[in-house]
Amino acid sequence: MKQINHFIEFVRDQYKTTDFIPLHEPRFQGNEKKYVMETLDSTFVSSVGAYVDKFEEMITDISQTERAVAVVNGTAALQVALRLAGVKQGDEVLTQALTFVATANAIAYNNARPVFLDVDLDTMGLSPKAVEAFLEEQGELREDGCYNKKTGNKISACLPMHTFGFPVHLNELLDVCNKWNIPVVEDAAESIGSIYHGKPTGSFGQLGIYSFNGNKIVTAGGGGAIVSNDKQIGDFAKHLTTTAKKPHKYEYVHDELGHNYRMPNLNAALICAQLEQLDSFIENKRKLAGKYESFFKEWGINYRKENPDTTVNYWLMCVELEDRKERDIFLKKTNEKGVMTRPIWKLMYKLPMYVNYFRDEQKNAEYLEDRIVNIPSSMVIDE
Ligand SMILES: *Cc1c(COP(=O)(O)O)cnc(C)c1O
Repeated sequence: MKQINHFIEFVRDQYKTTDFIPLHEPRFQGNEKKYVMETLDSTFVSSVGAYVDKFEEMITDISQTERAVAVVNGTAALQVALRLAGVKQGDEVLTQALTFVATANAIAYNNARPVFLDVDLDTMGLSPKAVEAFLEEQGELREDGCYNKKTGNKISACLPMHTFGFPVHLNELLDVCNKWNIPVVEDAAESIGSIYHGKPTGSFGQLGIYSFNGNKIVTAGGGGAIVSNDKQIGDFAKHLTTTAKKPHKYEYVHDELGHNYRMPNLNAALICAQLEQLDSFIENKRKLAGKYESFFKEWGINYRKENPDTTVNYWLMCVELEDRKERDIFLKKTNEKGVMTRPIWKLMYKLPMYVNYFRDEQKNAEYLEDRIVNIPSSMVIDE
């Protein structure tokens, strides 16, 4: 108890406030107003405009991929990325149960079936070992890809998620998925700017996606992006998310079922200004992460740190409490005192829409579900 009070004091000290402290709030301290006002003056507030193009260039650059496509949010980005990876009705998609609901929803929107496999304790993301064990047991390689020999369904994609910005073990995961001829789509919604073995998360799979929702490290108000190292796939992503309209000066020609998932220029203006500051945001957050690390070391609580060979964006910082009871005490006390903390997500197969899908033993996911708590992670305002 005394220690929880110390923690509350410590957090208040960092943010220098006695007001309510949220988990994560956006900071607008660069060109945000300037760019948004410019779009208003130009009248190009909607789905065509210079900032949409600029945003796509910036994301191509940041993700070190060949092509980035601006879309309306991260969920839409995921839905279309899976479609582009070849996910069709009735297929199975390997993913983790310890994730935000959008990951599983994107699979369901494609009328495909999530297969919930366990996470690693260190990364809190999809475990290459769990994927390998599942495929050894149920996978069958055929000419046109991998099948589940128990269900007869095609396993058409693997969808790992980089929890809170901590990269999954990508090399090992890619090895397994390549061996079984399964394309990887990275849900990098939370991990823009996180680096794994020298390369940005999102750039390892056939496709990757980012989210720029209001609670993420940088925001468009609402927004997302699809990235790929295959320029053709990227161009096709643009086509599918812009109503599949063929370029023509005045005629409406749509050559397949597309989506209106465009990001408005008004939102693109905001995110362009935010992305200019991404490096400094991450630097600021990494400093705070370091302070939390020292604080929790003294207390003897497992503060979650990055693995060697990774640089984490520390979007949301977290601790691992002793057990569920300790977790609940911590959550109750801190929230009562106006310092927001929140447990990690409920596992997907405990939600009504996903109770009936396959899952493996989930030992690690269940362990983490009982213990991981996010703590205030907004940038600290420097004097
Ligand atoms: C935020 C998030 C998304 C979805 O992003 P939106 O832009 O809110 O639609 C998808 N997956 C994960 C893991 C997320 O955290």
